[in-house]
Order: sequence, then structure tokens, then C-alpha cells
Amino acid sequence: MTLRPILIHPDPRLKKLCDPVAAIDRDLRRLADDMLATMYEAPGIGLAAPQVGVLRRLFVMDCIKDHAAAPQPMVLINPEVTWVSEATRTYEEGCLSVPEQFADVTRPAEVRMRWTTLEGKVVEEQFDGLWATCAQHEFDHLNGKLFLDYLGPLKRQMITRKMEKLKRERARETF
Ligand code: ZN
Repeated sequence: MTLRPILIHPDPRLKKLCDPVAAIDRDLRRLADDMLATMYEAPGIGLAAPQVGVLRRLFVMDCIKDHAAAPQPMVLINPEVTWVSEATRTYEEGCLSVPEQFADVTRPAEVRMRWTTLEGKVVEEQFDGLWATCAQHEFDHLNGKLFLDYLGPLKRQMITRKMEKLKRERARETF
């Protein structure tokens, strides 16, 4: 497994509509393994392919927060949202592509998704709680959407400027 560098906002690749995964082959399985390793290492609870620069429709997640509990890694390939609840939930979200920044986002409290597994099986499952928030956040990434897009323009600009500064500082450290 290889840890992959995570793109930091603003980056044009985080704004792109991703293409469907065409085949579940060795490269895709390697990508999914790398994404899970990168997510756990960060650490984070979700990571979408565009965040590592691959503009394909898949994401990984594991919302088990209790470190004593067994991990529950999930890989969702070509996910579709088949239902959302009317009830909403507000959660203070963050994003591995927007490090150290958090903001309240309101989304449907429950969501049902259909996707293809790494084994090539089509499954459908309903998520609630943190899993529902995370799945919708990651799904947004596949459509070039960040949680920042739910915020007002002032807050979004403030965070974007902080990220530009962070990227400049990181670029300097590299040299
Ligand atoms: Zn994110």
C-alpha cells in the first residue's frame, strides 16, 4: 500500500465532475487500498478519489470512531443516491482537503445509496448519523463540490485564503 498525497483546496481537480469507474481491475483495487491507508493515516473518516487526484467516482469511508472497535472500511464505487430523508442533521464538518477548518453543514439526516463493491456486487444501504453525513460529503466530492460550497461567501473566502497561505508555506518547506 502506498500513501497518496491529498490535494489541498483550492485545486481545479477538486472542482471537477468525476467519470464513472469503468472496470474493477487490479489498478482500481490498488487505488482503493491506497485511499483507505491514506484516510486512516491522515486520520480521517472519508476520502474521495478526486482528493488524491483521480477523477473517478469512488470513495472510501469508515466512521467507527471507537478505537477499541473493529474497523469497518467501506469502498463505494459509482455510488448513486436513491433516497434522502426530509429530516435534516447539522454537523460540524471538516475535510482532509481543507485541513484544520470546520463549519456547520446541514444535510438530510438519512440517505440511501446504491453502489458497486470491490467484488463487483451492486448493493444498497441506508445510512444515518455520522455515516449519512460522511457519505453525502464524499459523494459531493465526486461532483466537484466541497463542504465550503454550503457556507456563505465571506466564510468561504476566509477559509480559501487561509488554505492558499497554507499551500504557500508548505511549498516553501519543500525547497
Ligand atoms: Zn472532504
